[in-house]
Amino acid sequence: MGSFDTIVIGAGMSGVTAARMLADAGHRVVILEGRDRVGGRMHTDREAGFSVDRGASWIHGIDGSPLWDLVQALRIPTIEYTVGSFQVGGRPIENFDGDGRPMGADATAQWIDDVDAVDRLLVEEIGASSPGDTYLDVTERALDRSGLAPERIDDIREFFRHRVEEQCGAWIGDLDAHGLDEDAIDGDEVIFPRGYDEVPRRIGAGLDIRLETTVTRVDHSSSGVVVHAGDTAFTADQVVVTVPLGVLKAGAIAFDPALPEAVAGPLTRLGMGVFNKVFIQFDRRFWNEDSYALRALGEAGEHWHSWYDVSAVSGLPTLLTFAAGPFGRRMQELPDEDVVADAVRALRVLYGDAVGEPRAHWVTHWGQDEFSNGSYSHLALGSSHHDHDDLAGPVDGVLHFAGEATWGDEPATVGAAYYSGHRAAERILGRAIDLDDFAARIIEREQREVR
Ligand SMILES: Cc1cc2nc3c(=O)[nH]c(=O)nc-3n(C[C@H](O)[C@H](O)[C@H](O)COP(=O)(O)OP(=O)(O)OC[C@H]3O[C@@H](n4cnc5c(N)ncnc54)[C@H](O)[C@@H]3O)c2cc1C
Repeated sequence: MGSFDTIVIGAGMSGVTAARMLADAGHRVVILEGRDRVGGRMHTDREAGFSVDRGASWIHGIDGSPLWDLVQALRIPTIEYTVGSFQVGGRPIENFDGDGRPMGADATAQWIDDVDAVDRLLVEEIGASSPGDTYLDVTERALDRSGLAPERIDDIREFFRHRVEEQCGAWIGDLDAHGLDEDAIDGDEVIFPRGYDEVPRRIGAGLDIRLETTVTRVDHSSSGVVVHAGDTAFTADQVVVTVPLGVLKAGAIAFDPALPEAVAGPLTRLGMGVFNKVFIQFDRRFWNEDSYALRALGEAGEHWHSWYDVSAVSGLPTLLTFAAGPFGRRMQELPDEDVVADAVRALRVLYGDAVGEPRAHWVTHWGQDEFSNGSYSHLALGSSHHDHDDLAGPVDGVLHFAGEATWGDEPATVGAAYYSGHRAAERILGRAIDLDDFAARIIEREQREVR
């Protein structure tokens, strides 16, 4: 099949970034992608005539973000939407108590204060934690010290459990005590009315991308690599493997020789969580016009606790809710209609008969998707932040890994995928690549093609 300077496995954000940077530097690059589309876990469904982001939706914090700089350079429109990271206060959130009753202004203020107070204790407990402590352990210690009434503690415990599920796709008792250390949000968050996959599609435009080409084996030595996709073999000097951690953990790609402990260890220790989305569209809005999100505590929100108003994207009343962690895994086994019916039942506890019959829905199954085998990585008990960056390799100077799971600063994000692709390209070229130049070249190429 010819020889390349570099083979990139996977056409998600990290893969197209690395490949584009290498191609810009004059390398012969091919991307081998198992799916029939570019974007990976950035997947915009446009079948209904508007965008439904079935994978990533948000930039979680635009201040000082090179990803935000790229989006601006590409002049991609965004909508400010600053509750994508499970914050307790800040933007208007309609809160409901454990009986499904709306909280008044005083109760809401008290709730926010209580969570903030326990969160401060939690930071101390995480700082004082020992190896082997889970996020559940440190949460319980913080709650014990809070001095709050038992019902209050139950609500906050539930809130923390749900926060871990949404941020990590994992059960709170499986997450390391440090599992949310990298979760800080700087500045506003934004979503993409035209669909988030515009970013990887525009980066990848014009590259040699072989779709529906599933890699099954990588042979590597210090003199080069042979990458097998079924009966077809591709040879190159180097390879960048960007398939999700879930795919690597499942052993879907064989490495010969086997991966050294420096990479295999992190691969085993880090966790891959499940986080699924359920979009439900209604004929009429039954929640407040200016609410960014709705949140139910305690029993009323046992499964379906948080709802995000994403109507601005389609112009139709639409709520987005999530099923993550163990519940997300159970949910994806059920027929979509049953999932939606259950979610609508939960909404009726809050809004009664004002909740009409849904007019459309979208349900994801990321944990069953053979090309991701989960949603994103997290710090499972027994892993450390170093494991993310150690996973990047390289092995023998030829076998590189990139993707969200390989970036320790903010794993599980689009930013992590972007920066890890950048790092892999810099390592292969042996020099720095300026991100502003990278964006400028994409625009230049697009303008050349229009002319
Ligand atoms: C439901 C959901 C919501 C999310 N929300 C957000 C959010 O709001 N903000 C945010 O920043 N991040 C979010 N994320 C995370 C974000 O989507 C990912 O971190 C990022 O897109 C990962 O990019 P990547 O290049 O590392 O991997 P991917 O995008 O998964 O790319 C890897 C590619 O490898 C391909 N592949 C897999 N196996 C093979 C094989 N054997 N052979 C060839 N190709 C293969 C895959 O098809 C895929 O295209 C979300 C993820 C999910 C699932």
